Order: sequence, then structure tokens, then C-alpha cells
Amino acid sequence: MLSRYDLHSHSTLSDGTLTPRELVQRAAGAGVRVLALTDHDTTDGVAEALAAARTTGIELIPGVEISVTWQGAVIHVLGLGVDHRCAELQQGLAGLREVRARRAEEMGQRLEKSGIPGAFSGAQALSSGHLVSRTHFARFLVGAGYVSNMRKVFQNYLTRGKPGYVASEWATLEQALSWIAAAGGQAVIAHPARYPFTNAKLRRLLQEFVELGGSGLEVVSGSHNRDDCLRMARFAAEFDLSASAGSDYHGPENPWVELGRLTPIPENVPPIWQHWPSREDLLSA
Ligand code: AMP
Ligand code: MN
Ligand code: MN
Ligand code: MN
Repeated sequence: MLSRYDLHSHSTLSDGTLTPRELVQRAAGAGVRVLALTDHDTTDGVAEALAAARTTGIELIPGVEISVTWQGAVIHVLGLGVDHRCAELQQGLAGLREVRARRAEEMGQRLEKSGIPGAFSGAQALSSGHLVSRTHFARFLVGAGYVSNMRKVFQNYLTRGKPGYVASEWATLEQALSWIAAAGGQAVIAHPARYPFTNAKLRRLLQEFVELGGSGLEVVSGSHNRDDCLRMARFAAEFDLSASAGSDYHGPENPWVELGRLTPIPENVPPIWQHWPSREDLLSA
């Protein structure tokens, strides 16, 4: 089903394969009206995306997907509607990119020790000079023939306990929410059904998130099935969070995920955009 809102997507500035301009054009072609660019730990694609949006009639929401370590687990927090010129946000994101740069070198060294040379430079080349994500390592390992597909490469090389995995300390939940607030954005927990949490642990996360000023839960996600979506809608209602919807699009290489191809938000939770000014309101203001 087509959603006019797609509030989670990636460009070449992190681990997507389309440039911000190509991403905006594809979203427009797919019928999306409001797109959030939410690259991992950077807003460096926002200016290009905003410029492209002006010429395609799309509304571009500047965003970011922040890497967070919470109770020993890595979770992702989206900042939607952030002012990408905010110094506090930029300082925080710059710190995370330093963590990424050190991690990438160490991942390369570990892979080298397990008989895979050249992974660091290979991943770096695939990142076209921007930040390096595990996705770039995964693409390198698949491209070089070490593994047959992206699912297996994460499973066998890039997750906890596997040869290319390096544990990192990302932002705290409190830091992520304070940077997003400083930049005037709304915080949303990304793809909540993907974390290996019990209901009790997820409730602890949501409680803390609400206390720190969080706004939304990504109820509809390209990585959620229908059951995940209904379950997360119940959690959103329980914690008075609004519901966000995003494909988590990374590029046309993955045919299972398309911009704007999302199920509707269940009716028991308000969408996060319910109080956003619509394009028509903006034009008539
Ligand atoms: P990083 O933030 O560098 O640790 O990389 C995390 C990224 O890897 C996520 O944003 C996804 O794009 C990608 N990823 C994680 N797990 C998988 C998986 N099982 N299959 C494909 N991509 C994955
Ligand atoms: Mn990613
Ligand atoms: Mn994510
Ligand atoms: Mn994402």
C-alpha cells in the first residue's frame, strides 16, 4: 500500500546507494509526498535533499538516525524535523562518526586476522569517502565472494561473536534525545520490533524514552511484519507515543523495500504528523 509519508530513508551519505537527489526523485516517482532523510549519524545529505525537494514538489523532513547504546544493546533513535545547522547536534554526531572511523579500522584488522585481507579499504571505497557502516563491509564481503548474500554476511561475520564484529559505545539515550531536542526535532524509536528484547525490557526502554521527552515509536517499518506493527501500535498507545511510519529504504538493490510502500498506521494510535502543518497550510499561511 502507498503511504504519502515515508519518514525513514538513507542516502550515500551513510549506507544508502542513492544520492540525496536520486532518493528524493525516486520518492516523488513512487508517490511519496513527505519524505524524511534519516542517514546514520549524519545530516550531511540534508542540504542536497532539500534542494532536490524544492524542484520535485516533495516535502523533505530533515532527519537523522542516531546510534545509541542502551543497557548494553544497540538501538536506533530517529530525529525528525531537526535543524541540521544546530551546533549541539552536529557536535554529538561528529563524535559518533569518530567512533565509526575507529571501529571500521578495527573491523578491518579483525577480518584480516581471520583470513580476509583488504576489507577496511574495500568498505571505505564503497562508502565513497563518507562514513563507513557495517553495510559497506557487508557489500565488500559479498562482492568479493566470501558470502553469498547480505543476510548471511551479517549472520556469519558482522554480529556479536563473529570475526568482524567490534563492540562500540554509541550515544546514551539521554544524549541522543538532548541533541534532537536542541535541534528542535522529535525523537522516534526506530524499528522497535527488531530488538531482541522481552516485553518487559521494551517497556523499560519506552518508559525511559518517554521520561526523556521522546515523541514517537516507528510502528510501521519496512522491517516489521503485520504482527510487529499491531504489537508496536499497542505499545505506542500504552505509553502515549505517536506512531511513525518509514520504509528504512537503502536503495534499489533490495527489492523487498520500496519508498512509500507501507501499511497504514493502525487506528488506535495517532500518526506523528497529526499536528504538522500540511503543505497546503504552509502555502496559505
Ligand atoms: P552500523 O550502524 O554500521 O552498525 O550498521 C548497521 C546497518 O547494517 C543497519 O542500518 C542496516 O542497514 C544494516 N544491517 C544490519 N543487520 C542487517 C541484516 N541482517 N541484513 C542486512 N542489513 C543489515
Ligand atoms: Mn543502515
Ligand atoms: Mn536502523
Ligand atoms: Mn535506517
